[in-house]
Amino acid sequence: MSAELTKLSKNVLKWGNASDIQMKRTTQLRHENTYYRRIDSDVLPRNIARLDAAFQGFWEHGKDFPEYAISATFKSFEYKPKRCKFEVKRIVGAKHRFSRVYLPLIGWMRYFDSRQFPEDAETRTVTITRQADGWYISVLLNLSESLPDEMPLEEVNGIVGIDVGINQLVALSDGSFVKNLKPGTNKRVRRALRIRQRRVNRKQQGSKNRAKAGRTIARLHQKVSAKRDAHQWKAAKIVVDTADAVAHEDLNILGMKKRCQPKKSNGRFMPNGQSAKRGLNRSISDAAWGGLFQKIAWLALKAGKPIAIYHPKNTSCECSSCGHTSPDNRNGEKFICANCGYIAHADTQASRTGLKRVGLKFVSTRRKNLPGDSRKVTPIKYDSARNGKRDQGRNLESMASSVIATVRKQDTRGVSP
Ligand SMILES: [Zn+2]
Repeated sequence: MSAELTKLSKNVLKWGNASDIQMKRTTQLRHENTYYRRIDSDVLPRNIARLDAAFQGFWEHGKDFPEYAISATFKSFEYKPKRCKFEVKRIVGAKHRFSRVYLPLIGWMRYFDSRQFPEDAETRTVTITRQADGWYISVLLNLSESLPDEMPLEEVNGIVGIDVGINQLVALSDGSFVKNLKPGTNKRVRRALRIRQRRVNRKQQGSKNRAKAGRTIARLHQKVSAKRDAHQWKAAKIVVDTADAVAHEDLNILGMKKRCQPKKSNGRFMPNGQSAKRGLNRSISDAAWGGLFQKIAWLALKAGKPIAIYHPKNTSCECSSCGHTSPDNRNGEKFICANCGYIAHADTQASRTGLKRVGLKFVSTRRKNLPGDSRKVTPIKYDSARNGKRDQGRNLESMASSVIATVRKQDTRGVSP
C-alpha cells in the first residue's frame, strides 16, 4: 500500500508514517480474510504499535534492533485499556481461586487468581502471554500511590558494594554471600535436558510426537527460569535491605561471553580452549547477572535508594585496604595482599574495592559483626568452567591450600574494610 494522507484532527491532514498506514490496513484485512476476522480489531493495531515502539527504542533510546518474529516465536498479544472486564470471585478459605475475565471476541475465560487487585487500582493494558504450560494474563495497573523520592547519594548513611560471580552469585561488602543455585547448569538439570533433547532429536521431523517431546523440554526450561527468577528476587531483596544504597559493577556481559579466537598453525586449527570457555559461557548465562541488576534496580527504586555503578577493571586484584594492584594478590578464591597482608575472600574484597571507587563507606542498617569476615572459603576451584562433568571441579591441591589459609586467617586479627 502506498503512502496516503492521514487525518490527524478535523482539519489537519498529514502524510502517514508506515505505522499509521499499516494500522489502517488491518481494518481492510479483517474484511478480506476470515482468518483475521477471528482476531479482535484492537489486537492487530496493538501489534503494529508494539513494533513501532521497538523501532523507536532502536532509533532514539539506544536499544537493540528489533528481533524478527515469526508466528512460532510470537507469543503474546494485548488489549487496549477498558476492553477487558474482570469478575473477581475470591472466596475466603477456598482451595482454588478462580476468577473470570472477558476478552473481546474470545469471550469469558476462567483464570487462576494468583494476585489480588489493590482496592483503588485502575486496570489498563491487558496482555495475554503464551508459555510452555499454558496462557498467562498480566494487567497493567494505575495505582494512586507513587514511588518515593530517591535519596541523593551524598546523603546516604551507608552503602553496600556487591560483586557478582559464579561460585557465589553475590558477594556483599559486609562479608556475606548469596549462593549461586545454578538452576540451569547443575548436574541434575543438565542431565534431564540432555535426555529430553535427545528424545526430541530422535523423533521424525514435523511429526506430532516430536512436537510433544518439544513441549516437555519447554516445560523444563520454564521451570528453570522460574527458579532462577525466584532466587534472584530473594538475592536482590537481601542486597537492597542491607544498606541505604547499592554499588554494583558495570559488567560487559556480552563481551565476557565472547568465543575464543581460533588458533591456526600450518593451515590447521589448533586447540584454542573454546570447549572450556563454552562451559564458562553457559554458567554466565545461567547466573544471569543482568536480570539480577534489573531486579535490584527495581527494588531500590521502590525503596527510594540510589544505585552507584563502578568500573570493574582490576577489582579482583586491587587491595581494598592499601590500593596495591597485582595479580600476585590472588590465590584462587583467596585474596592476600602482597603489600600489606590484607586477607579476605576474593569476591568480598572485590566488592570492597568497588565501594572504594564509588567513594562511600559501608555502614549497614542491619548491624552485623563487620570486621571478622565470613571465614568461608569454598574449596572448589573454577568449578564454573566444568559444569555437568563428573568430579572435575574437585581440586585436591586447592582444597589443601584453602585449609592452610583458613588457619592463617584465624591468626590474623580482623581487618576492617
Ligand atoms: Zn594491601
